[in-house]
Amino acid sequence: MSHSDETILIIGAGLAGTTAAHQLARAGRKVIVVEREPEAGGLAKSLKHESEHGTFWYDIGPHRFHTTDERVNKETLAVLGDNKVERDRVSRIFLYNQFFDYPLQLGKALKQLPKTVMLRSIWDYGIQSIKNLFTKPKDRNFEEWVVRRFGRKLYEVFFGVYTEKTWGMPCTEISADWASQRISQASLLDTIMKSVFRPKGEVRSLISSFYYPEKGGIGQLAISYKNSAIGNGAEVHLNTTVDQILIEGGRATGVSVVDESGAKREIMADLILNTMPLTKLVELCGDSVPQDVTEHKNKLGHRSMVFVFMILDKPQFTHDHWIYIPEDTLTVHRLSEPKNFSDDCAPADKTLICAEITCDFGDEIWNKSDDELRAVAVKDLIKIGLIEDSDVLETFTHREFFAYPLYTLDYREHLDPVLGFIDSLAGLETTGRQGLFKYNNMDHSIAMGFTAADGLIGRDADHRKVATGDEYFG
Ligand SMILES: Cc1cc2nc3c(=O)[nH]c(=O)nc-3n(C[C@H](O)[C@H](O)[C@H](O)COP(=O)(O)OP(=O)(O)OC[C@H]3O[C@@H](n4cnc5c(N)ncnc54)[C@H](O)[C@@H]3O)c2cc1C
Repeated sequence: MSHSDETILIIGAGLAGTTAAHQLARAGRKVIVVEREPEAGGLAKSLKHESEHGTFWYDIGPHRFHTTDERVNKETLAVLGDNKVERDRVSRIFLYNQFFDYPLQLGKALKQLPKTVMLRSIWDYGIQSIKNLFTKPKDRNFEEWVVRRFGRKLYEVFFGVYTEKTWGMPCTEISADWASQRISQASLLDTIMKSVFRPKGEVRSLISSFYYPEKGGIGQLAISYKNSAIGNGAEVHLNTTVDQILIEGGRATGVSVVDESGAKREIMADLILNTMPLTKLVELCGDSVPQDVTEHKNKLGHRSMVFVFMILDKPQFTHDHWIYIPEDTLTVHRLSEPKNFSDDCAPADKTLICAEITCDFGDEIWNKSDDELRAVAVKDLIKIGLIEDSDVLETFTHREFFAYPLYTLDYREHLDPVLGFIDSLAGLETTGRQGLFKYNNMDHSIAMGFTAADGLIGRDADHRKVATGDEYFG
């Protein structure tokens, strides 16, 4: 059989799945995509809410698309066509009853802090900088990584509390891998140099502005890639859940799926490209999974999230895309406003905001009713003076189980044998944020989809190398 006769089955129509499908179908390969949800998008999907207050589009937590990868940028802008707007990025941190720019502008932040905190921050930063001249120990965890770059006080104020709140575990138990990709490393010296010798005509970085679909929310990225794949001959089955990977003699030969009506069937394939969560993939491999692989898989955890959406009786809440809320006396950890991504996301006289609360599946927050979640989120925002009760016209919620892969200190020790098991099966490859258990952004998932497809087309490409360096993800 020639490669062009082979059937490639893709599990999941998130960004990794749809971009791989787009690329493979364009290269003339036979592609079948199965997605359990009614529309493409995965974590980067968008939903529509219609009520007496108007039509609102929202993402499952705010999504800004930006990339330093030229191919990802070019292909994504092309596939969106005219359906895009460009926005300057605005995020802030709300702390001590005031807003701090994010990424942290150290010089400016120090001026805003209460005097004692500011002096202590400078002192700690100075001491740490001197220590760094003489010792370069390996950062063993998130706390050590941040303290070595910012000093202890700035770590405590801006990073420690927020991170423990978001992850639900001490920063000393979180891998330093996460910090290096998530925190901009502008040093105090850098900041001072830039404010004194501001470069003339500095080109805006790809990260300072971003594109967003004008209509339909961030989900339009995956939908556009999906439509392109269909246009090039791919079959896409929505509302279709994979419930078993069929394995014969060490080879994945197909999948069993259940459709909306509950009907089961098998789809056979020469190659399977998975993008659903890795832990789920292993579970669906059934008896073929060795006991030790199951034990390692059970050690790979996920942080879940609930989203409380509030329709406010005002045209705009703030001008931010999102606002971090680090204080541990508050439950909400981030707020965002879809209308600031595209005017089309809300009617002119109303706005919608999203309050994110991280949690563990089945814990007290996860199990709260919608009314109880509303009460938690509204109380937090009233307490810090950002809204009044009468501003809130309507609320609704969403829950996401696999929001963040947990980068515990030993996650790699468990991840490697699990990936090793998948690699031992012929005809099965796994990619994407969930498929590789990686805390990466949309552009990385797109790059993974492209690169995995390149590999299947026979080009020299390794999708597992995407987003593996110490680059700052933004
Ligand atoms: C709150 C939040 C905010 C974020 N903000 C940003 C941001 O601002 N910028 C940015 O670049 N990135 C952001 N991200 C990250 C971004 O959402 C992800 O990197 C990206 O969407 C992952 O795409 P993926 O295709 O790799 O995985 P997924 O989107 O998870 O795709 C996997 C697909 O598999 C499907 N699936 C699962 N199980 C089955 C099954 N049994 N059968 C069939 N299908 C199945 C799922 O429904 C899903 O569609 C954010 C993520 C979160 C959680």
